[in-house]
Amino acid sequence: MRQLFMSIAVAATMAITGCGQSEAPPAATAPVAAPAAAEKIVDEHSYSQPDKVRITDIALDLALDFDKKVISGSATYTLDWVDKGATALVLDTRALSIAKAEEQKADGSWAPLQFKLAAADKTLGSALTIQTPNRPTKVRVTYATSPDASGLQWLAPAMTEGGKQPFMFSQSQQIHARSWVPLQDTPQVRFTYSAHVRSPADVMVLMSADNDPNAARDGDYSFKMPQRIPSYLLAIAAGDLVFKPISARSGVWAEPAMVDKAAHEFEDTEKMIETAEQIYGPYRWGRYDLLVLPPSFPYGGMENPRLTFATPTVIVGDKSLVSLVAHELAHSWSGNLVTFATDKDAWLNEGITTYVQSRITEKLYGRDVADMEEVIDRDELKTEFATLAPDLQRLSLKPGTLADPDDQSSATVYTKGAWFMEYLEQKFGRGVFDPWLRGYFDHFAFQSITTQQFRDYLESTLLRNNPGKVTMQEIDQWLYEPGIPADAPKIESRRFATVNAGSIAWQGSGKLPDKSVTGEWSTQEWVHFLEGMPATLKPEQLEQLDAAYKFTGTPNGEIAMRWYPLAERSGYVAAREEMGKFLARVGRRKLIIPIYKALVATPDGLAFAEQVFAQAKPATHPITAGTIEQVIAEGKAKLAAAPPPAPAAAPAAGANADANAAAATKPDPAAH
Ligand SMILES: [Zn+2]
Repeated sequence: MRQLFMSIAVAATMAITGCGQSEAPPAATAPVAAPAAAEKIVDEHSYSQPDKVRITDIALDLALDFDKKVISGSATYTLDWVDKGATALVLDTRALSIAKAEEQKADGSWAPLQFKLAAADKTLGSALTIQTPNRPTKVRVTYATSPDASGLQWLAPAMTEGGKQPFMFSQSQQIHARSWVPLQDTPQVRFTYSAHVRSPADVMVLMSADNDPNAARDGDYSFKMPQRIPSYLLAIAAGDLVFKPISARSGVWAEPAMVDKAAHEFEDTEKMIETAEQIYGPYRWGRYDLLVLPPSFPYGGMENPRLTFATPTVIVGDKSLVSLVAHELAHSWSGNLVTFATDKDAWLNEGITTYVQSRITEKLYGRDVADMEEVIDRDELKTEFATLAPDLQRLSLKPGTLADPDDQSSATVYTKGAWFMEYLEQKFGRGVFDPWLRGYFDHFAFQSITTQQFRDYLESTLLRNNPGKVTMQEIDQWLYEPGIPADAPKIESRRFATVNAGSIAWQGSGKLPDKSVTGEWSTQEWVHFLEGMPATLKPEQLEQLDAAYKFTGTPNGEIAMRWYPLAERSGYVAAREEMGKFLARVGRRKLIIPIYKALVATPDGLAFAEQVFAQAKPATHPITAGTIEQVIAEGKAKLAAAPPPAPAAAPAAGANADANAAAATKPDPAAH
């Protein structure tokens, strides 16, 4: 998944660095611990027992009921019994009602099996234990989802762009697939799947499978995913969806009102695929299509194979946010092809993907654009690491560190992971490193691996064949220690240096950068401009900025997520009305959570936040709603413990780091 410019949103806290250079946070100096020897893969976020039995294929037969907000039907598993003495199949479920479990007999008939659904754990859901003394090759479970399924969102027609058809979509990562299909919900198990799905006749259904652009819209759909995928890539969407091609193997699915705009914004997709293929080898998944979801989608994008799910908030008209597509496409190699075995190794997925994304961006849009995106990411890492528990700053997490996989630190898994790859690239040079990474994708294709496996492969190939460049101790510091090593490559952005100069001049003299300069600025430059602001500004300064640049009411979420918190901290209530509309319309967590966090810092802001959320909640995705509720509860608790000073005594520049840290007790959940 991807949140562009990953952030816990402490937007305005960044001090300007003189030349647009992002400095590394303090180096980790602790002694480097040697990693443990190869061990059994334990996924603490799944009840399933892949060491006993593995699902190799799932055949789904499902019906969508938009009135009840329920998916019901059956899942038939093909099983590989690893342990010939095993007597049970344990599946992950969350809030599912299970009607029956059956095994297939030698004559093809079905016979009932005993099963038990355990009490629910808040994070992990309920283990479904099916007694299988015969170790059958096929088991079938008949079930129905709950209207509150954490991995599904159901939207009434009024909540869609077109307003005519209802909409439904899934988000299985991290561990939400279990809320709509009982399965082994751990990335170390990979399976193929097929599906037969029935829906109202005028609703189009798509899956992370072989979607046919010419399929008749008749309410009866069949899908096949012939490549083995982990559970988090299981995906479904249904709504008033139409297709527009970009190339022979790529196109956009969207609501009719959105499809032309989306196809235009994403028109470079084929070029991106070709670019990635040149460096990393053939695209192995057949078609690569994009599905534009309603604005309530909680993430930037989700790399569902063959059908990336994307937020409409990246469609800003100038392609300045299409690195989201580069990111999701990059997952076709890093992630979907070579997956992490457990959430403790999530950097193998997101970190390598963020690096590959940067290479695609560089090739298509130039090093300047890739540099700006990396500086923004690393500035955010620096801010996040200032308050993030050291245990969560390791690329390879220790067992028990992560209570809920949704609480991954995006700074660690995306940005530090990508930084590590760039470190290797610079040490070995692209002439060596690019073929090595391509070989890594080939070597582990369609497998799910641990950090230890990555480390062993790295040592026995890249390091052994190119001695004297990097030591294993240096590698282990990246993998197993908190912080960023002191010799991490630095980055400079030429274009941000111009932004910094303009910002400093304005803060000193009140003279804004000339329109001939800002007229050329992309989203990244505006983001950097706003992040260079002090913690709070005077109302007249905000008025001046707003008059010149029309930040309030901006359709660009990357700007909104930085402008509104600054306005709120500075007591600039003129932004409230448009801020409220933005919060009601957009559900992408990365864009709205920073605003909610800024609001809940004062009693007045908290009341406004509660009022806005009460109105927005019916159309809010369950994952987003849960996060907002948590932010509001934490804000209330903080206010009850220590009421803030009156607005007249607003904190001075630089003090907002504390204000934000107060509302950021947990890292923002990683998105994809
Ligand atoms: Zn991702």
